[in-house]
Amino acid sequence: MIPILGAHVSASGGLYRAFESAKKIGAEAIQIFGSSPQQWSVRFPSEEDIKKFKSAHKESGNIPVFLHASYLANLASPNEITRANALQSLTGHLKIADSIDAQGLVFHIGSGKDQSKEDALKLVVEGCQKILKNVPGKTQLILENSSAGGAKLGATPQEIGQILKKINSPRAKVCFDTAHAFEAGMIEYDSLAKIKTVFDEWGREVGLANIVAIHANDSKTLFASHNDRHENLGQGHIGIKGFQNLAKEKRLHNKVWLLEVPGFDGLGPDKKNIEILKSCF
Ligand SMILES: [Zn+2]
Repeated sequence: MIPILGAHVSASGGLYRAFESAKKIGAEAIQIFGSSPQQWSVRFPSEEDIKKFKSAHKESGNIPVFLHASYLANLASPNEITRANALQSLTGHLKIADSIDAQGLVFHIGSGKDQSKEDALKLVVEGCQKILKNVPGKTQLILENSSAGGAKLGATPQEIGQILKKINSPRAKVCFDTAHAFEAGMIEYDSLAKIKTVFDEWGREVGLANIVAIHANDSKTLFASHNDRHENLGQGHIGIKGFQNLAKEKRLHNKVWLLEVPGFDGLGPDKKNIEILKSCF
């Protein structure tokens, strides 16, 4: 069985255009930015945009849709203003996800900088609870594992499990990024036994049903580098063999796999990366 294989695609010129981008590369699921990832302010789609999006979504056969949050948002920041901005930004992006019936919003858990881990985690939990309260409904708030380094939170299943339990909402879910996990030193993908051990741990700490998406990215940096740099599949340190091994982990087959790679032409996820991923199964 081959899982649903999708990609982060461009939605420039209107959110609905994402479905055209997906079709071009053969993506069966999409991740998009609902609003600019480099800005604090959130631009909401117009009623007309939402209508167009819903109609194009239907036409696509209702493929899974995820949003990715702004890179600026850091719920764990020791700075109160930065935290307030993060809360506002993530609330806005989740509202957009809700308005277009996306499954959820993937976001980076953030960095506690020089705070104690305990204090930083508490801020994340409080922030997530506020965001979920600000945006009622069923849209999921999806925490992505990090590459560690720079006091980045969420580099281990234990830590993500702890956050999830404290948020205590069925809408809090997880996205597993293959490159981040490799860079964090969590998993090497060079043996099936190691992969099994790691996902047994995810099962115990987080619950595998709570992992809803896989970010399928090769890594430009070394194992345990703590340095987040995505690479095209087969061109990084995980390599084709690593993805072939991971594809054998059947417990991940009911997840939506999304590419976030630079692309062989530097234009983002492309048909070639999708084909490579498909060939790994
Ligand atoms: Zn990712």
